[in-house]
Amino acid sequence: MSLKLHNTYTKNLEEFIPIKKDSVSLYTCGPTVYDYPHIGNYRAYIFGDTLKRFLSYQGYQVNHIMNITDIDDKTIRDSQKKGQSLREFTEFYTNEFYKDRDMLNIIPADCYPKATDYIDEMVKIIEKLIEKGHAYVSTDGSVYFNITTFPDYGKLSHIDLSELKDNAKGRMKSDEYEKDSVQDFALWKAYDESDGDVFWETSLGKGRPGWHIECTAMSIKNLGEQIDIHTGGVDNIFPHHENEIAQSEGYTGKQFVKYWMHNEWLLVNGKKMSKSLGNFYTLRDLIDKGISPLGYRLWLMTSHYRTLTNLNIETLQGADTALSRLYEAFKALPEATDGTVDMDYKVRFVEYMNDDLNTPQALALVWELIKDTTISPANKRATMIDFDQVFGFGLADLKEEVIPEEVTKLVVERENARQNKDWAMSDILRAKINTLGYEVKDTGEGSKVSKI
Ligand code: AMP
Ligand code: ZN
Repeated sequence: MSLKLHNTYTKNLEEFIPIKKDSVSLYTCGPTVYDYPHIGNYRAYIFGDTLKRFLSYQGYQVNHIMNITDIDDKTIRDSQKKGQSLREFTEFYTNEFYKDRDMLNIIPADCYPKATDYIDEMVKIIEKLIEKGHAYVSTDGSVYFNITTFPDYGKLSHIDLSELKDNAKGRMKSDEYEKDSVQDFALWKAYDESDGDVFWETSLGKGRPGWHIECTAMSIKNLGEQIDIHTGGVDNIFPHHENEIAQSEGYTGKQFVKYWMHNEWLLVNGKKMSKSLGNFYTLRDLIDKGISPLGYRLWLMTSHYRTLTNLNIETLQGADTALSRLYEAFKALPEATDGTVDMDYKVRFVEYMNDDLNTPQALALVWELIKDTTISPANKRATMIDFDQVFGFGLADLKEEVIPEEVTKLVVERENARQNKDWAMSDILRAKINTLGYEVKDTGEGSKVSKI
């Protein structure tokens, strides 16, 4: 079976045929760097990473771009609140994002373009859109995309514009809005005082870009006018990706993206995890609860990326324990170098992943392999390492850990505190162990310590 991917545009599973035979251009909408990302955001990036890993595993040369949104309504608002320059403020959160990315074993993209470095490209595209009649300048000097000039508007998010005629007549200056306020959207926002010192003097006047034009400019500049796959979470479908299509296709006259892929939400008690609802966890919050970043990664693999998934701390802890068991099973295999990948297992693995990245089944196969006594330990090891190129649990880098004496001492002290039922002290010691880069887990066989 060939690779089939779900395309939001057609709402169907489609055979994946790249534009160029052996290479894939992949664009992932990256973080808006105004705060620490929450683990819902990481569902989107781990999904993109799994897709990219599988494409590479299948022999494609993947060119992956992930943008950094370092200018939008939220970055301006919060940098002002903190009294920092936009650059200083966004650089801090960009670096925090990179740290989390590494802890989650997400392969770095080939490039992380920052929106503020692409203002010239954005201005060039906006001017062309005005010239072609797709955009117009409003009375305050802002530039808007006229959605009625783009007949395909609404095709990605499956909105019927004719039903919205009245709504669709207005103008929307905010970067984010709901489907029921479909309107002409801002490409360029004329300066107003709330922007403080964030503005560019350009041929479009003094102002700053709208959010949507940023991804169009960074995608076209880095990957060309047509790309294979664009990913993001489902909340990006409208208005962000719908608007990207209108701008990009209005500008080039060519199909912008062949396959649009979107991951479903991570929920908390049935509601989307989000900053605005305040129901979010960061990666640090999970670590404080004794759940490792790769335990979270494994937990995500147990659901398909297109299913709504409710966060449940107990099942997350279970996934973290499962990861430890996976490591133990792997470490118990001799470090023979003469093992070969078991082809029957590999065929099944590829078949599951070809089915729109069916990670739950692919993961179940690993447990089946671990239990299979007909496969030699050396071949088992080779097969697990092979699959791990896609899962990204870091098996190839697993070594017997040497725990520093300082950490071991704290673990013993914590054990004593626990025996004395001094839970407050036990928590303090756990936090100290965490700050040294280690985590401690309480198992049936006592405390186990490992690197975070
Ligand atoms: P943002 O920084 O808000 O632009 O979001 C970055 C990425 O995270 C986007 O692809 C969003 O669609 C995605 N995202 C945000 N919240 C969630 C969530 N609760 N579950 C899954 N993906 C999410
Ligand atoms: Zn984007």
